[in-house]
Amino acid sequence: MNTRLLPCALLLTSVVVSPQLSLAQEFPATDDCLLIAGASILTMEGAEVEAPTTAQDVLICGQQIRAIGDVGSLEVPPETTRIDGAGKVLMPGLTDGHVHLNAPLDLELNLAWGVTSVRNLFGNPLSLNLRERVRTGELWGPRMWTAGPIIDGDPALWPGSAAVATADAARSAVKDQAEAGYDFIKVYSLLRPEPFFAALEAAQEAGLKVGGHVPLSVPLADAVEAGMDFIEHLQEFLPAMQAADSELQTMSKADRRKLGFSDRARLSAEGFDPKRLPEVAQLMVKHKVWNIPTFLVLERISASAQQKSEWFETHPQMRTQGQMTENFWNPANDFRLQNVTEEQLLARQRSARLHMPIVKALHDAGAELMLGTDTPNPFVFPGYSVHEELRRFVEAGLSPWQALRTATVQPARFLGQEAVFGQVKAGLEADLLLLDADPLQDIANTERIFGVITRGRWLDRATLTAKVNAVAKAYGKE
Ligand SMILES: [Zn+2]
Repeated sequence: MNTRLLPCALLLTSVVVSPQLSLAQEFPATDDCLLIAGASILTMEGAEVEAPTTAQDVLICGQQIRAIGDVGSLEVPPETTRIDGAGKVLMPGLTDGHVHLNAPLDLELNLAWGVTSVRNLFGNPLSLNLRERVRTGELWGPRMWTAGPIIDGDPALWPGSAAVATADAARSAVKDQAEAGYDFIKVYSLLRPEPFFAALEAAQEAGLKVGGHVPLSVPLADAVEAGMDFIEHLQEFLPAMQAADSELQTMSKADRRKLGFSDRARLSAEGFDPKRLPEVAQLMVKHKVWNIPTFLVLERISASAQQKSEWFETHPQMRTQGQMTENFWNPANDFRLQNVTEEQLLARQRSARLHMPIVKALHDAGAELMLGTDTPNPFVFPGYSVHEELRRFVEAGLSPWQALRTATVQPARFLGQEAVFGQVKAGLEADLLLLDADPLQDIANTERIFGVITRGRWLDRATLTAKVNAVAKAYGKE
């Protein structure tokens, strides 16, 4: 049993999802106009604000935000649908920057929770198919960008990975994925240095961003200096910030490699030297690395067995999860949790909590941050958990506005889509969220969704609730 396991799950299509389970609905093309009248707007444009701009009208025609102005100042075409925005806050739709989305039903849950774009971190031909069906309007869903199969060592940690043992194999895996049309390249923990560096080089040649997990065999600084563009989970940060005399630091390389995941987490937390935070943060700034902390998954996967059984019984979001997901979430079935003691889980939790000061240091140094949930890892819910993850950024010390950036402007920048979504701005496409309360007052207000606009289409509260109910029903949970 391999204990060097990192909590980044793939859910193989064949294992967990039922691609045939879909609530397919036509996404009608339209030039119709929609006016959100008299709302406060949180544009997420420019510098931090204390409060949204009040009393604004926003005119949306077709998929696009056509104009924004003071109440009553816009020329509105006849037959425009009018939504009363008084007392409400309009903000950009949210992006989940780390999902494993293969189930069409998850498209519905994402939209229902205001998630209008997703970045998929373990793709396969089905992901390309879903991406395309959403793009053409055959399915309603968040815009989607997807990695190909994870490029890992041989043997790989997860089935379905591209397992490569040599630099040549790594290069050809990257080339194949670029040709297949995947949007970026994901590398993984068990890659040996040579194939890892070859994969980075091949991705750069193909013009694709490359990132994922820093391999266990490669120091963080070396990975970043060689051009790794993004890092998920930040699990290699603590080992890179050890006190000179820490047990992990003074251990031989060979012994270090033999450590199980839990022991590595425990030792790296024990030997963490906060004085080294600025140095690592500066490294990320210098190399323009994107950091995706995924607070929630690290926390949830290390929750006690008792806590997990409570969630199974009582968590309100459980009704939108199918039987196969429930099986996957059962700790008894999770290969990453076999032979892990409660004490080891606690050590993992302590290590995960240290990601809060790391993220604060990254933020203050000006490093790039993006929100990602890693759904559907255990008890990380499609759509809903984006709101939970936003709260974690605030707990880490970011202001609500700064936290919101990680799920709006930032992912748009990462994806090269700043001219398409991520802000409330004339000329951009209309992926928006109309809230009943101001998220700058309390980040939890992002959950108070009055309506969602996806590519110009208005989904009111009743429609969103119906979507969630339909998912529950499809899973046999009325
Ligand atoms: Zn993941």
